[in-house]
Amino acid sequence: MPVLQTLPCGIHFHRLTTRLSTHRPMPPSCKSLLWRAEPCDLCGAHECRVVGLRDRRGKPLTNVVCTRCGLVSHLDIPSKQQLCEYYKRRYRREYHGEARPSSRRVLRAWRRGKTVFRQLRPFVRTGDRVFEIGGGLGCTVKAFELHGFDASGIEPGEDFQAFSRNQLGVRLENVTLDEVVPDPSYDFILLVHVIEHLPQPVKALRRIGSMLRPGGRLYIECPNIAARYVRPSGMFHFAHIYNFAPHTMAMLANSAGFRVAERLAADGDRNVQMILTPDRHVALEVDPEGCRTTLAALERYHVLRYHLRAGYLAGRLLAIATHASDRIMSDRRVNRIIQRCQEARLPAETLARAA
Ligand SMILES: [Zn+2]
Repeated sequence: MPVLQTLPCGIHFHRLTTRLSTHRPMPPSCKSLLWRAEPCDLCGAHECRVVGLRDRRGKPLTNVVCTRCGLVSHLDIPSKQQLCEYYKRRYRREYHGEARPSSRRVLRAWRRGKTVFRQLRPFVRTGDRVFEIGGGLGCTVKAFELHGFDASGIEPGEDFQAFSRNQLGVRLENVTLDEVVPDPSYDFILLVHVIEHLPQPVKALRRIGSMLRPGGRLYIECPNIAARYVRPSGMFHFAHIYNFAPHTMAMLANSAGFRVAERLAADGDRNVQMILTPDRHVALEVDPEGCRTTLAALERYHVLRYHLRAGYLAGRLLAIATHASDRIMSDRRVNRIIQRCQEARLPAETLARAA
């Protein structure tokens, strides 16, 4: 009988020993290779190699690398139905440990929204219609709105979307990407730390491409599994179905009919950050070194190296100081943000200075 494990989201899956028997066995010389039933979403190959058996909380979770293109993903991709329920009601509570966002989370999201806006400002044109997919608390959408852009978005999580709409007055709908009419309506779309959560990233990017007006751009950002320093025990997470690196993200973009217009982060940075533009002339060309590049990055990980990396202690001290300050001041600062967001008649520049 198969041994079933239950993940925090309630999804059952077979332990690796059981999964091995459900996939076509590989020759004895390739014991760590698997032949999975569902092909790689990026390149269509079936052969993969196991790169992880535990998630960041020590629970069983099998991650593999595609031996053809180097894309890292769960061995078992959850169905859309399972994910829809998970993100609608459970993700924020289980991942962030809260339903209604705490003041500290709102404050962090507000600062993050301002940072994203500042970084992307050179790539957005006056009059652009801006749309964010997976907007969370809506702080990034609000940052664009406060600077005069026609900005809106969607967020599948009911609790965060309700806070965003009711408290911050953000035009954020509680729907999924599949529910958005794929008309060319937007000039600039943001996909910030979302693509790694989607079960079919190529299909999702193609849908987003159909939502862009001629000349439109997509900003995509996600964790970089090839970053110089990733906490080894924190590499894999149930919610991150895919783990991208710059080379696999570039291939994904090409596969979905986009070309990489700008790279806003270096290959070893914490996040992959790219501006993509639709281009019907591009096609997927699988990097023959893709798997080797991914495996080389994964093999660099070392616990000591992570904790001894340059700037680690300084960064930790700064984070502790910021958290302590937020703990004391966050309620007041968030109340000020909410109050100012609701004062719709205030000049945009005044609102933008909130917090
Ligand atoms: Zn692949």
